[in-house]
Amino acid sequence: MDFHLTEEQRAVQEMVHDFAEKEIVPHATEIDKTDEFPAEIFRKMGEQGLMGLPFPEEYGGGGADAMSQALAVEEISWASGSVGLTYAAHLSLGCAPIYNFGTEDQKKEWLTPLARGEALGALALTEPKGGSDLAGSVSTTAVLKGNEWIINGSKMYVTSGAIARSINVLCMTDKTKGHRGLSLIIVPRGAPGLVVGKLEEKMGLHGSLTTQVFFEDCRVPKGNLLGAEGDGFKQAMITLDGGRIGIGAMALGLGRAALEASLKYAQERQAFGQPISNFEAIQWMIADSAMELEASRLLIAKAAYLKDRHQRFSTEAAMAKLNASEAADRACSKAIQIHGGAGYLRDFPVERYYRDNRLTLIGEGTNEILRMVIARSILKEVG
Ligand SMILES: Cc1cc2nc3c(=O)[nH]c(=O)nc-3n(C[C@H](O)[C@H](O)[C@H](O)COP(=O)(O)OP(=O)(O)OC[C@H]3O[C@@H](n4cnc5c(N)ncnc54)[C@H](O)[C@@H]3O)c2cc1C
Repeated sequence: MDFHLTEEQRAVQEMVHDFAEKEIVPHATEIDKTDEFPAEIFRKMGEQGLMGLPFPEEYGGGGADAMSQALAVEEISWASGSVGLTYAAHLSLGCAPIYNFGTEDQKKEWLTPLARGEALGALALTEPKGGSDLAGSVSTTAVLKGNEWIINGSKMYVTSGAIARSINVLCMTDKTKGHRGLSLIIVPRGAPGLVVGKLEEKMGLHGSLTTQVFFEDCRVPKGNLLGAEGDGFKQAMITLDGGRIGIGAMALGLGRAALEASLKYAQERQAFGQPISNFEAIQWMIADSAMELEASRLLIAKAAYLKDRHQRFSTEAAMAKLNASEAADRACSKAIQIHGGAGYLRDFPVERYYRDNRLTLIGEGTNEILRMVIARSILKEVG
C-alpha cells in the first residue's frame, strides 16, 4: 500500500492548484454575488487542458487517471464551488457517458469538442416526478420515426443544460420493459423542439447554471443513441458511480477551504488577550475537521484507485461521496462557528463554502439513497 501520489498525479495537483489560486479565487466572491456564469474561467481551463483531463489524447483529452481527475476537481472546488460543480458535471456527466458508451464516430463528433474545452456537456436524468426513484420516474419518451428519435417530456436541475453543446438525456424508448426500456440519447444544442427553461435560483453554487429542459416533439438523429437501446438505466448507474467520486472531491475541496480559512482566522482573532486558536474548544473543532477531511481523502482515493484498475467501485464511490459531503458540511459549519459573527457575514468566504457544499449531500444520489446502496451491497456480501 502506497499513500503517495505518483509524479503525474502530483503534477496535475500542483498545476490545477496554481491555476485555481491565480485564475479562480480572485473571482469566486463575485461569481457568488452576481450569479454569473464564469465563461472566461472555463475558456482558460480549456486552454490549460483541464476540460478533457481524464480522456485519451486522441479525443482531445489529457490522458490522466481517475485519481488526477479527483485531485483536479478538489482544487477547482477549493477555489469556487460553482466552478467545481460545473467542472465535475462536465467531466463525469457530460463527457464520460459518450466516452464509455459511444461509438468511435460519436466520440469524435461529441466528445472531442467537449474535451478540448470548446463547449460544456450535460446529463439529464432527473424529472419533476423525482430523482431518487430513477427507475420509476422517467416519463420522457423517445419514439423512433424513420431516421429520427422524437422526444417528448421534461427534465429538471440540468447542470449547464442552458449552454451545453450536448445533453445526454435518459428517455423511455419501450414502456413495456420498465427500467429496461430506458435509453440514453445525445440531444444537441439547437435540436428542433429542445426548449431550455428559466435558470433556477439556488441557495449556493450561483455561477453554476441549473435549468429545466423541455422536449416538444424534439427531433434527434437515430444515430445519437448511446450504446444499445434499453441500456440507459445501467449506463446511468455506471455514470453516477464515477460522478460520485467527483462530488466527493468537490466536497473535500470546499471543506478544505473552510478549514484553511478557520486556521487563518483562529490565529489572527484575539479574545481574552490571546489568539482564539489557544482555546481548546476551537482546537477540537479544527482537529475534528482535519481528521474527517483526511478520512474523506482516503475514501475518495480508494474509489479512484479501484476505478483506475477497472475493478468494481460502486460501494466505495457511494461511501466516498457520502462521507466527504457530510464531513465537509460539518467542517463548513464549524468554520462559521470559529469565525463567530464574522462567519455569518458575506465579507468572509465561509458562509459561501457552507451554502455551496450543501448540494453535495443531495446531488448524484441523496445521502439517504447512498446509505441504501452501501447497506444493500454489504448485506449482499454477508448474505
Ligand atoms: C444544483 C443541482 C444540480 C443538479 N444537477 C443535475 C444534473 O446535472 N442532472 C440531473 O439529472 N440531475 C441533477 N440534479 C438533481 C439531483 O440529482 C436530484 O435532486 C437528486 O437526485 C434527488 O432527487 P429529487 O430532488 O427528486 O428528490 P426526491 O427523490 O424527491 O427525494 C426527496 C427526499 O426523499 C428522500 N428519499 C427518496 N426516496 C427514498 C427512499 N427510498 N428511502 C429514503 N429516503 C428517500 C431523499 O433522500 C430526499 O431526502 C441536480 C440537483 C441540484 C439541486
